[in-house]
Amino acid sequence: APFGFREVAEGEKQGLVNEVFSKVAFRYDQMNDLMSAGFHRLWKDDFVTLLSPPRSGQGFEVIDVAGGTGDIAFRIARAGGAGTRITIADISPEMVAEGAKRAEAEGLQSQCRFSVGNAEALAFPDKSFDAYTIAFGIRNVTHIDRALKEAYRVLKPGGKFQCLEFSHVDVPGLASIYDAYSFTAIPAIGKVVTGDGQPYRYLVESIRTFPDQEKFETMIREAGFSRAGHRSLSGGIVAIHWGWRI
Ligand code: SAM
Repeated sequence: APFGFREVAEGEKQGLVNEVFSKVAFRYDQMNDLMSAGFHRLWKDDFVTLLSPPRSGQGFEVIDVAGGTGDIAFRIARAGGAGTRITIADISPEMVAEGAKRAEAEGLQSQCRFSVGNAEALAFPDKSFDAYTIAFGIRNVTHIDRALKEAYRVLKPGGKFQCLEFSHVDVPGLASIYDAYSFTAIPAIGKVVTGDGQPYRYLVESIRTFPDQEKFETMIREAGFSRAGHRSLSGGIVAIHWGWRI
């Protein structure tokens, strides 16, 4: 592995991920602003626009997996009408607790409910949601194929899967700048804010090893989704993928 990165054994991965998020839960949104120079807001806005929750009072049940402190859920709640309800499922109790607090502060608690759960084994019945969203979360899951199967299972027929995730930069000049930034600046910011840069090294590595746009789209199809597609944003730094259960 490059730059002194060590390989992380499969069993160890979820533990490391959990450690990162339980430590930064209360500063999580500031961290995002710092590390992405505010770009995550634009990406999330694009993501929610593409989902376009109905503005009428019509019922629209969303599950936001790896929803953390509720950033995506709150945007969906604000974009949609009174019938738009979001269930957040995240493996970190600390992130979920922070999110529930924020929902109340923002007056969105009637539209958002929080739960602790693993993307690989969701505690919801088959065919319960109109949309499944996951933003900067699927990369952290140990078995991505299992998470995709679960997404398919909990969606109603006609329901949409939509994922926002770091992806592969396809602009040559940008690739080297981005690599330099992520391998040095990200762990450095992590160290300043949390006192430990190591978990951030792991997060950067997980971006590099995550499948590229085409490969991930294939995985979505393999999980049973139809009309799968993707769109790269910011030269491929992130991508939005989608698919439909029909
Ligand atoms: N979606 C939020 C956002 O965009 O701001 C939070 C993204 S944060 C980078 C990743 C989240 O994934 C963390 O809150 C973490 O606890 C959660 N997570 C990691 N592994 C998970 C798993 N196996 N199942 C559910 N959530 C998981």
